[in-house]
Amino acid sequence: EVGELADEIGFKAFAVGGFVRDLLLKTANLDLDIVVEGNGIAFAKKVAEHFKGKFFPHEKFLTATVTLPNDFKIDIATARLEYYESPAAMPMIQLSSIKLDLSRRDFSINAMALQINREQFGTLIDYFNSQSDLRNQVIRVLHNLSFVEDPSRIFRAIRFEKRMNFHIGPHTKGLIGNAVAMNLFGKSRDSRFLSELKIIFKEKDPLGPLVRLAEFGLFQYLWPDLRPNYRTDRRFCHGIRQTKAAIKKLYEIEPKAKIDKSVAFLLTIFHRSGPEEIQAFCNRFNEEEKICKKLLQTKQRCDALLPILYTPMAKSELHQHLQDLNYEDLLYICSVAKKSHIHKSVLDYLCQLRHIKPLLKGKDLMEMGYPRGPKFSEILNSLKRAKMDGLVSSRADEEELLQK
Ligand code: ATP
Repeated sequence: EVGELADEIGFKAFAVGGFVRDLLLKTANLDLDIVVEGNGIAFAKKVAEHFKGKFFPHEKFLTATVTLPNDFKIDIATARLEYYESPAAMPMIQLSSIKLDLSRRDFSINAMALQINREQFGTLIDYFNSQSDLRNQVIRVLHNLSFVEDPSRIFRAIRFEKRMNFHIGPHTKGLIGNAVAMNLFGKSRDSRFLSELKIIFKEKDPLGPLVRLAEFGLFQYLWPDLRPNYRTDRRFCHGIRQTKAAIKKLYEIEPKAKIDKSVAFLLTIFHRSGPEEIQAFCNRFNEEEKICKKLLQTKQRCDALLPILYTPMAKSELHQHLQDLNYEDLLYICSVAKKSHIHKSVLDYLCQLRHIKPLLKGKDLMEMGYPRGPKFSEILNSLKRAKMDGLVSSRADEEELLQK
């Protein structure tokens, strides 16, 4: 249907990038990237109107995002027509703009297009041997200066390699080695590194790509104070695994929990770092002020709480310590606590404690003759605490406790 809309407006339209890659791999991909030879914004507007979706244009880049009522997302970009003077006063040559668009992409496997206009529907455009790389499961850059142009592509190469179980081709691997040796990272304050790192944290298993980043010598730029050695490596891997396991458990308990995974993983990584190192990392990669603050405050709050949590305590007291913490705090505590009973306590808090309510409600208290006022919530809280600690288990128990 999108292709027919392109026909109506007279543009050539192509599905491109990850969508085509995943289609050929028969893997689900809910983000459709479309490139049109024509004005992408005008086309996106037409698509949004047709599907009754929402339309978000980015005029500067001639791109737009359309979200459909079923949450499907379409990114639409404009393939710019570029004209080249040909020698000997021949007429100007118009380079196929889709070819130019594809040639600027990161890896061959992401540089295919599938035409979607009605007559040419399904025509695969592959200028760079992408299909063969896909078959051989190789990640390969399109030209030698690819990482010089954009070093964040190294993060992407590693992410795709680990996610799809592919391998980075030998030449591309050599180019990564050169880029690291040329200190392209040390010189750069590129925020794209951080956004790519955050995408790694969202992967099903972030540990694989993180270990690969370390193998390529990139930790010294990301987290210079980690000073990798056998012991710190083991500790690092353990921390990441713990965080991953804690996130999984949290989702089991609360499938819709809103978790900032990058904050959770960064906190684990920064477990042994001081505030200066966290601040330096945020400055270097232009992290948002509010996230930087969150990292610093969470760490300070939880580090102070950890020794307290090691001492045995009643469940109501545990609840009191944890009730103001957010998910990232709780995940951090789970992942860095050395004693395993802390995990159990935090999970117990998440699954049960925080949901406990007394059987008697405000209405019951009023019927029992308690006057409305600030004392009301105090009474309900004390009933709640008693229930947490197993001192009451029925309405009659609660009434008896009140009489005392
Ligand atoms: P994912 O499944 O992780 O979303 P994707 O391939 O769709 O994978 P995106 O980051 O959404 O990844 O990028 C869409 C497309 O844009 C890529 O397939 C690639 O062709 C191109 N692209 C993205 N980032 C870069 C980059 N840094 N350099 C060149 N091309 C890029």
